[in-house]
Amino acid sequence: MGKKRAALDLGEWQVRPGIPPDLARIDADASPASSGKRAVDEARLDALGKRLGELQNRLYASKQRSMLLILQGMDASGKDGVIRSVFSQISPLGVQAHAFGVPVGAELTHDFLWRVHSRTPARGEIAIFNRSQYEDVVVTRVRKTVPEDLIIRRIEHIRQFEALLSDEGTLIIKCFLHLSYKEQGKRLKERLTMPEKRWKLQQSDLDDRRLWKDFCGAYESALGATSTAHAPWTIIPANSKFQRDLMVTELLVAGLEGMDLHYPASTLPKSARIPE
Ligand code: ADP
Repeated sequence: MGKKRAALDLGEWQVRPGIPPDLARIDADASPASSGKRAVDEARLDALGKRLGELQNRLYASKQRSMLLILQGMDASGKDGVIRSVFSQISPLGVQAHAFGVPVGAELTHDFLWRVHSRTPARGEIAIFNRSQYEDVVVTRVRKTVPEDLIIRRIEHIRQFEALLSDEGTLIIKCFLHLSYKEQGKRLKERLTMPEKRWKLQQSDLDDRRLWKDFCGAYESALGATSTAHAPWTIIPANSKFQRDLMVTELLVAGLEGMDLHYPASTLPKSARIPE
């Protein structure tokens, strides 16, 4: 990937187990993955994107491990945007994105993890969750649609579920896209006026904005309770789309590099020749 550079310390953006982050005090304009120079960052993101593609190819070929990227954040925090841009240099083979909306149909007749478990990545694959099991302990808590004691038990189920996935070879990367209230207002207003975005806007988004503080509280509590050694949460400052993408890509590449992936040995003898 060109010149080596010192490993970035993104660790301080990880939520410490058991300690709810104070979102109001975290700068959504920060750029932890930046070198401070736009041109350098652009080259870095490009190189990282290519490296992500190579590593995904190895993951796919070796079929030993899998990766799950969980994206959570307030409305308009850029979950769709991350999926569109961070994975732009990756072969669609072996990558699946899933969006989880309000549960419907069969989803309502099962436990809350049923729909997510069935979409976790197979060995060799990457799965991206646009919203996830965390909706079942955040929006439900804010809207009081599930009793508090059940939410507390659900949080424990999520911890066990993620431990299971991790034990079985899935690397879990959880990103909370941290947007400021002001930036959300700007983005939602934009959506209102642009036909290609307006369709995305629903009454529930406007209602949720009124409940911003409650959502922050519910997120803080869920992030603190479910950030673990094997499935830590990282806060991604998301006011800048470019910096957001850079940081998420850094995390993904670092995660895959850490897997030490190798192509499987060829089954062909050394003497094999391509027929003329
Ligand atoms: P997005 O807002 O991510 O673009 P949608 O328009 O489909 O996607 O909205 C998803 C909505 O579904 C959000 O308001 C989210 O809170 C809600 N949702 C997702 N999962 C659940 C759940 N398990 N229980 C209740 N609401 C949920």
